[in-house]
Amino acid sequence: MPTHGTGTEDTFESLDPATGDVIATHPIQSEAEVRAAVERAKVAAATWRRLGFAGRREMLDNWKRYIVAHLDDVMTVLSRETGKRPAEAHMELLMTLDHLDWAAKKAKKVLGRQRVPAGLIMANNKAYVEYPALGVIGIIGPWNFPVFTPMGSIAYALAAGNAVVFKPSEYTPGVGRWLAESFAAANPQYADVFRVVTGKGETGAALCRAGVDKLAFTGSTATGKRVMAACAETLTPVVIEGGGKDAFIVDEDVDVAATAEAALWSGMFNAGQACVGTERIYVHEKVYDQFVTEIVEQARALRAGGDPAAQIGPITMPSQKNVIRAHLEDAIEKGSTVMIGGPDTIDAGANGMNCIQPTILTNVPENSLEMTDETFGPTLAINSVASMEEAVERANGTRYGLASTIYSKRRGMELAGEMRAGMTAVNQYLSYAAVPSLPFGGVGESGFGRIHGPDGLKEFTYAHAITKRRYPPPLRLTTFKRTERTERMAARLLKFLYGR
Ligand code: NDP
Repeated sequence: MPTHGTGTEDTFESLDPATGDVIATHPIQSEAEVRAAVERAKVAAATWRRLGFAGRREMLDNWKRYIVAHLDDVMTVLSRETGKRPAEAHMELLMTLDHLDWAAKKAKKVLGRQRVPAGLIMANNKAYVEYPALGVIGIIGPWNFPVFTPMGSIAYALAAGNAVVFKPSEYTPGVGRWLAESFAAANPQYADVFRVVTGKGETGAALCRAGVDKLAFTGSTATGKRVMAACAETLTPVVIEGGGKDAFIVDEDVDVAATAEAALWSGMFNAGQACVGTERIYVHEKVYDQFVTEIVEQARALRAGGDPAAQIGPITMPSQKNVIRAHLEDAIEKGSTVMIGGPDTIDAGANGMNCIQPTILTNVPENSLEMTDETFGPTLAINSVASMEEAVERANGTRYGLASTIYSKRRGMELAGEMRAGMTAVNQYLSYAAVPSLPFGGVGESGFGRIHGPDGLKEFTYAHAITKRRYPPPLRLTTFKRTERTERMAARLLKFLYGR
């Protein structure tokens, strides 16, 4: 069986993680090819920018309709390259299209020229702010949501008036190519506005150094640091959407069965390979036993496998199995209890290649890898807490800070205000990601910068301030011809305005 990434010196293969079968062969693009793609995108960017908000909206709407008309094609390549369940692929596409639609519609309102108050001392001026596009945005994406995640940058960067060069993960090159090809098919005259380059890590590194105007990276925190270092050489600004160790906290007043259902899905969907997937759960001690019994019971109904009937798919990147195993073994060695699943279920059973059965651990020491590092598999660590204050403190006790979930009937909004995280969902998991007007991104080692929403549009622009004189200033200070009287009046005005 071939291992992932085999091919020739100039090519690599994408594989079906459930079977190991080769899906397609893709070129490993060299530094020179990446530079050439950026150069072509630069030329295209000028035309795209001149098209204006309305023109770009039309092209992005064409693309949206093309994607919908060819949904089966993208679903097939998405499911084959990642092992994603069809329902998960559908959800990913639905959310993506909603964001594409929103970005195209709202770009003008958010980024177009707006008049702002000029203030008392500049009352003789009109003041404006506008947000022009930066030029060419380099985008490096992960494999876990290979449509939704990069599109959070691609759609918003294009709507803002930039051209894009996208380097998809080596695990999902087919999805990346499909996205660029579909854009070109929908808008042949603008094909160079959105280009894709394929390859491995080195191709991504080349993109950082290829003269892009900004680099939007989504992936692990470790790679994010390398990307930032490479971009620092040319002072290229970056957006870093890194990893997470998201917590889900459960108050004493919840509907335990419904909360367990949500928590189980939040940790296991996409085989736990979600940056905002729940990895840690803190439950109020008054409902802890009931919650654990319920979630374990519900988890018993799930099975991971490569066959279509399995609710949980395979691990897309086989090397991740070593990380999952190491985290589970470390937690067990430190005294955790395995309630279901565990390291012995990795690769086990019929159709279980590259799978791990749903795994739930309890009493997990806070210093174990399962609590401190991103596991990225269908595992959940559940601990009891004496109060919601303790739950918040433990949830925040991470170097990451991507998203969080709170289930509480009475205190949801109050507790949300205490969370150190880029996003918080109250009494429903993941809802923030599906609201296009909300920003998405993290704090701490989860990164910085935002995709989605008005912040996500502005991320791919720069603020341009403009003032226009309406009539001569009452006090002529910005001239060497100013008089002593003017200066005296300025001093008086200063004291009057700010000295009281
Ligand atoms: P990686 O960090 O391994 O890779 C991300 C991308 O970076 C890939 O395209 C990869 O290419 C590329 N890359 C690798 N090395 C370099 C380099 N030196 N310079 C430039 N680019 C490079 O992440 P994964 O693909 O494994 O994705 C999973 C991670 O992404 C998880 O940590 C997850 O939490 C995070 N993530 C974060 C999200 C967020 O919005 N915050 C959303 C989704 C995922 P190649 O694959 O070819 O090596």
